Amino acid sequence: MKICIDEKKCQGSGECVKVCPHGALQIFNGKAVVNHENCDLDGLCIPACPHDAIHFIDEA
Ligand code: SF4
Repeated sequence: MKICIDEKKCQGSGECVKVCPHGALQIFNGKAVVNHENCDLDGLCIPACPHDAIHFIDEA
């Protein structure tokens, strides 16, 4: 599994960046991006997103 940001839904509010305890999220060009090397899959950013833009997905 990995965290996936839906770029169509992401408004770049940065709420996920504030809650991530691992510094794995950044806003880049107005959209949240995940540094998967830092993400420990705790899922804290998922409910933090006011736009329902963050989900777990199964890696292909
Ligand atoms: S799942 Fe946790 S560690 Fe990964 S980006 Fe979201 S808040 Fe950060």
